[in-house]
Amino acid sequence: MHQIIRLTLLICLGLALCTCQDSSDTGLRAATQSRDGSAESDRPDYALVIHGGAGTILKENMTDERAAAIEAAMNAALDAGEAVLRDGGSAADAVEATIWVMEDSPYFNSAKGAVFTNAGINELDASFMTGHDQNAGAVGGITNLKHPISAARAVMEKSEHVLLTGKGAEEFAAGAGLEVVDPAYFFTQERYDALQRALAGEKVEQEKVDVDKKHGTVGCVALDKDGNLAAGTSTGGMTNKRYNRLGDSPIIGAGTYADNATCGVSCTGWGEYFIRYAVAYDVHARMAYAGASLKEATDAVIHQTLVEKGGTGGLIALDARGNVAMPFNTPGMYRGYLKAGGEREVRFYEE
Ligand code: ASP
Repeated sequence: MHQIIRLTLLICLGLALCTCQDSSDTGLRAATQSRDGSAESDRPDYALVIHGGAGTILKENMTDERAAAIEAAMNAALDAGEAVLRDGGSAADAVEATIWVMEDSPYFNSAKGAVFTNAGINELDASFMTGHDQNAGAVGGITNLKHPISAARAVMEKSEHVLLTGKGAEEFAAGAGLEVVDPAYFFTQERYDALQRALAGEKVEQEKVDVDKKHGTVGCVALDKDGNLAAGTSTGGMTNKRYNRLGDSPIIGAGTYADNATCGVSCTGWGEYFIRYAVAYDVHARMAYAGASLKEATDAVIHQTLVEKGGTGGLIALDARGNVAMPFNTPGMYRGYLKAGGEREVRFYEE
């Protein structure tokens, strides 16, 4: 009799253990499953996404040589960021390394290759944010720093402020040891000609090259092996801008945002709209408060909110599970991403 009771107890215990094991498995999956269906276990070791600006980017207006040069620059930027992430470097280091490559390239409207103001100079804006602590830094209207993105990061890490502008920002960045250049370094004939056309009252149109008013801002979001996100954006703003105009790019919450709990975002487009609709923060908020997936949140902001209001542009975003979103409501956006394991894509047009 005792043996029967002991056997029954053992069977019950065994069943209980199995059930328990099953439900804890399911619980784990349920707890880590996101709305777009990806699970924590799917998370790549690292991921990186970039943009090089949104606008009237059309295949028929692009020469093969120019397309190849832009594609090469974007791949070089992705390579620089991947080298950091593959070695176990931080998302912040990857964002900075990636954006340096694009800032150094004359094909993008950031640092070398920046558009000209009405006064015929280059005024640069940038911002930086880390997702694990919501720390952020930004600079606006600077004229002599080779890498504005590093100035934004220095404001974040080495000052008690978030946004510095003009001469003060330059003085701070030089004091932080950043490379100072002669403003002539930023000159490119193409952007200068675009200003001359704007000044002549011509409508700046897409000709054979991509030189409209606000193309080529660069941005990057990275996810590192520790699951941390970081985001950065760097731009020359809009051709023919006046009165120390600042767009969304140096405004945290408008052009850039990062929170490990949701995503990292970098925007490009008509800055005034991105400021008014707090675009980068809105993506985060939709995920945080409404439980939207990355795709739902980014599509709603770019294809609904902005379209309804007349704001043109796009954004790149990456969530903590390595999901990538790159929506835009213009004819094209220079964009690309990679994930650990070899997945990589660089695209220009709507596809
Ligand atoms: N958003 C930038 C600005 O308004 C320009 C751009 O992204 O093309 O300054």
